[in-house]
Amino acid sequence: MSTELDTVPESPPGARGYALRADRVFDGERLHGPATVVVEGGRIAGVHPGESPLRPDLATVDCGPDTTLLPGLIDTHVHLVFDATPDAAANVQRVGDEELIEQMRVRAQAMLAAGITTARDLGDRRYLTLALRGELASAPAAGPQLLCAGPPITTVRGHCWFLGGEVPAGADLRAVVAERAARGVDAVKVMVTGGQLTPGSHGGLVQFHSQALDALVTEAHRHGLPVAAHAHARAGIADALAARVDSIEHCSFMTEDDVVPDDDLIRAIAAAGIVVSLTLGFAPTDQPMPPDFAARVPKLMDLVRRIVVSGATVTIGSDAGIAPVKPHDVLPLAVVQLAGICGDAAAALAAVTSVAARSCGVPDCKGRLAPGYDADFVVVRGDPVADIATVRDPVAVYRAGELVAGGHPAQGELR
Ligand SMILES: [Zn+2]
Repeated sequence: MSTELDTVPESPPGARGYALRADRVFDGERLHGPATVVVEGGRIAGVHPGESPLRPDLATVDCGPDTTLLPGLIDTHVHLVFDATPDAAANVQRVGDEELIEQMRVRAQAMLAAGITTARDLGDRRYLTLALRGELASAPAAGPQLLCAGPPITTVRGHCWFLGGEVPAGADLRAVVAERAARGVDAVKVMVTGGQLTPGSHGGLVQFHSQALDALVTEAHRHGLPVAAHAHARAGIADALAARVDSIEHCSFMTEDDVVPDDDLIRAIAAAGIVVSLTLGFAPTDQPMPPDFAARVPKLMDLVRRIVVSGATVTIGSDAGIAPVKPHDVLPLAVVQLAGICGDAAAALAAVTSVAARSCGVPDCKGRLAPGYDADFVVVRGDPVADIATVRDPVAVYRAGELVAGGHPAQGELR
């Protein structure tokens, strides 16, 4: 942590600053003792360890007794267009753009209230998330900062074809990527395999092989865009690795009716530095999981343990929206789950802050408490490294320096 007061040159002149004091801070990698964070112009201007306020000229907000200040949480894989019902895939095909974007606004708000200040949407319809991204950029209290992929690239009638990203067999994937880049996406999402959500598809089907993926990855990287590859089947995971995608989403090693991990392949993914975006987080619901999926959950949890043990870089991409167990604010539950599996709460918190920021291509502004970073914070009661469950109940959430959810009763509103 910095002990100097670093002024951020980009801060708008005259922007009113304030200081935020907490008993502990998690800086994106590890926990520290008491500190004061100075916020100016929506960004962190300085992080000062210790008790004493260094800037008597600034209003100081005390986060309250026994609180911890963390970077806002980052979900690396959500779907704002899906409604988290058993009929998510059918419902998105029934609703018009206006109504859908209204629903997406409500979902974005729920995410923010849970402490999710950045969300990467890996599959929308008609680039609707890009419109919402623009809205939320100027209204921090209305939702997280969005990073968007647009419609996922898929085969004709392939996984999630109904979102509009179908590509005919043999088509030039470079042009498909270039079109997305021209629209201003933040990432490229490709359905390397099929998936359960789409009638007629399943995770065991491979849709794109490594040669096609090579062209896609080369073009995406030429535009500075990370490639997120949805891959369930072992063969698809191997193709994604061979093409050097940036993240493998799900990485479930699912067959049509089982989960069959390949530890050699997992080690190769770890060695290649490819991020595994773990599809964790299952909210309690009255609606039972499909029995075939429920039967696989224990095997999937064992797989997550193997992936973590391999030393692979992991983030959490909850896949929020696809089913009743995946409400849009499910990420904090997933953090608790990952901490339980890997036995390391600090590592689980890093996975949804600094590591997620790096994976999403925003390592210089998100996921850390350090000068120059966006003032996106979650305040929790107690010590989240000792008791990770506290992330499920944030005391306050800040985005771009604005208090957007909760508050500090001892202190009242920002002065
Ligand atoms: Zn997804």
